[in-house]
Amino acid sequence: MLSAFKNTTDAKIIIAPLPEKVVLPLQQRIGAEANPCVAVGDKVLTGQIIAQTQDQFCTPIHASISGTVVAINAQTIAHNSGLKPKCISIKSDGKDEWIKSTIISDFQRCSPAVLIKHIQQSGIIGLGGAGFPTHTKLTKAADCHTLIINATECEPGIMCDDALIRRNPRETLTGVEILLHISGADQAIIAIEDDKQQAYQALFELNKNHNINIVQIPTKYTSGAEKLLIKSLLNIEIPIDKYAVEYGIICQNVATAKAVFDAVIEGRPLVSRIVTVTGECVTPSNFEVRLGASFAHIVNLAQPQNQPLAVRMGGMMMGVDTKTLELPICKITNCIFVNNIKAKPVVQECIRCGQCNQVCPVGLLPQQLYWYAKNSDTQKATSYNLSSCIECRCCDVVCPSHIPLAQYFTFAKKLHQQTEREQAMVERSRERFEYREYRLQRNKTERAEMMEKKRTELKQKMSGNKTQKAKIAAAITRVKNKK
Ligand code: SF4
Ligand code: SF4
Repeated sequence: MLSAFKNTTDAKIIIAPLPEKVVLPLQQRIGAEANPCVAVGDKVLTGQIIAQTQDQFCTPIHASISGTVVAINAQTIAHNSGLKPKCISIKSDGKDEWIKSTIISDFQRCSPAVLIKHIQQSGIIGLGGAGFPTHTKLTKAADCHTLIINATECEPGIMCDDALIRRNPRETLTGVEILLHISGADQAIIAIEDDKQQAYQALFELNKNHNINIVQIPTKYTSGAEKLLIKSLLNIEIPIDKYAVEYGIICQNVATAKAVFDAVIEGRPLVSRIVTVTGECVTPSNFEVRLGASFAHIVNLAQPQNQPLAVRMGGMMMGVDTKTLELPICKITNCIFVNNIKAKPVVQECIRCGQCNQVCPVGLLPQQLYWYAKNSDTQKATSYNLSSCIECRCCDVVCPSHIPLAQYFTFAKKLHQQTEREQAMVERSRERFEYREYRLQRNKTERAEMMEKKRTELKQKMSGNKTQKAKIAAAITRVKNKK
């Protein structure tokens, strides 16, 4: 496994200057695009809701600075898809005037439902990189026995969570207590890697809650992946097609716990986050920066050594390569990795050495998966548990043929999802067609039955008329005979 890239280990958190402009995407990692509730030219305050939606997976979008809305349009963000979501741009007035907020200081007396709503309204999503909405996870936490706080950095080089714990151990612990109160879990485990001694000590010395355990785990890349972490802490294996919550476990990132503290105790919605800027820089650092500020805003402060730069959002292993620094920092931007541009090695054919099979942390067979992914045989790849691939790139790193295996797997997963979506659409269309045919046939039968009934009634009526006529004729005859 890779050893950690730790050149920001002792770096303190630097508060980045207020950006002159922020760009806030309306589409978050999961859920529908939010609808703007401001217009170009409107004045906004820091923390003010500027867009929202009814989608249960979504949180509102807040202004991260005070100023004027200058644009609502499609802009490029750091995402593999290359799509341009709609964004709201705000030009700063330099005052950073905050909106009046709601504080819930006595959270123990507050019901979980009220706290969950407050967390949602504060715009909190998982800050570890996945971006799953915190309120959605908490809503499903009713029968959980264990709350796991993931304080392991997800990739070598990322140190923002370590820096956060060292700066705010008390607030972090209170955030964990709030999450514990909401989930009703019996215990919380804060999992922290064993190379983060200062952060561990800070939490350990302050923790007075017997239901919160702080556990050190070996510093090893991918040990922070949710299912692997659960296995190492609780020895519970979550099957491929199941979620942790189905096994009574809820996982939250440590920065999310601090964000929960900010929202509940301080009344601050999520308008900033800590981002590690690392790689080939003179002063790699952790920056607290307003959401929507550009990458350039903090990368330049870290003084990259050479230009032009290769930039990757999210760490050197699983990050997304970007072509420009003019991209907005989002809630899931935990790291910006800058490097000198290096020539990519030539990709060669697989020599079936099997090295990739030996390093996969989730026990997959990348060599086999590669074969099927390359041939777009997603059915076969799925039968080899493609969906369990955490895209860690460990197999890429050891491959002597320099095959970008994880890229193939990402593509195959997307292709499989698309195929499934298309199949589902075809299935839905078939069902709709069959139902239409059935409905038409039923209408035809019903109409025929109705006509038949009417015909019968008419016949009966006609025959009734005949009887009547016969009776009248008989009466006339009887009168005539009498006469
Ligand atoms: S990228 Fe996927 S297949 Fe490769 S080592 Fe990681 S989990 Fe295994
Ligand atoms: S490590 Fe590379 S060359 Fe070796 S089996 Fe895996 S894909 Fe093939």
